[in-house]
Amino acid sequence: MTSADVLVRCQGAARTYGAGAAAVVAVHGATCEVRTGDRIAITGPSGSGKSTLLHLMAALEGPTTGRVSWPGLVRGPVPVQVGVVFQGPSLIPALDVVENTALPLVLAGHPQESARRRALDALALVAATGLADKLPEELSGGQAQRVAVARVLAAAPRLILADEPTGQLDRTTGRHVVDVLLATADALGAALVVTTHDPAVARRLTEQWSMHDGRLRTGPNPPGDAPTDASEGTRP
Ligand code: ADP
Ligand code: MG
Repeated sequence: MTSADVLVRCQGAARTYGAGAAAVVAVHGATCEVRTGDRIAITGPSGSGKSTLLHLMAALEGPTTGRVSWPGLVRGPVPVQVGVVFQGPSLIPALDVVENTALPLVLAGHPQESARRRALDALALVAATGLADKLPEELSGGQAQRVAVARVLAAAPRLILADEPTGQLDRTTGRHVVDVLLATADALGAALVVTTHDPAVARRLTEQWSMHDGRLRTGPNPPGDAPTDASEGTRP
């Protein structure tokens, strides 16, 4: 294992919002690494700091103290090769599905035509070709999440961060979105980190981390706290 395999590294990374008496420590000194091929679920109750940690890993926010680095990723002003699937609706209402999917590529300077081709390829991989001409308002929640995954896929990131991607979906649709995320990560040879408060989603990933009151635990959960259920008695 070389440091090139480490896509993101948090070293005592903390994030506080506000100041003085109103300060909220969303993430206390988190230390963790995500490597090529990892499939990690981050579980924890609402408000435990999952989204904030994901935003730190995506460089959408900077740590208040500590450090976040991306040793194995191409350097730019921000780390490129990181794709984020956001918690809520994230498609641009005025753009159709293929334009939404192509947008990151266009913003990165790709010619329109090749961006569109890659977007259509990505939509095909998430079984959303038929949605290409639709506007976001015409999509169901599950369809919109599949398009959000296609938008990430089109940009071919090496690190995919998905924030509660199934949070607003029913079980069956949610399972399909997780299928699509796992297949996408496999197709790209990317690492995948998924935050969720759904144990059934967490079980689909290889590794389970958890957060409580802003504190990250990267090892297996203690007995009784693990994201398992009685039907899985053979799980180690
Ligand atoms: P989770 O994703 O696990 O629900 P979050 O990372 O969203 O948790 O939030 C962790 C804590 O930080 C919560 O107490 C939340 O209210 C607070 N928080 C998150 N974002 C902000 C913000 N932009 N400003 C102030 N407080 C925030
Ligand atoms: Mg959240």
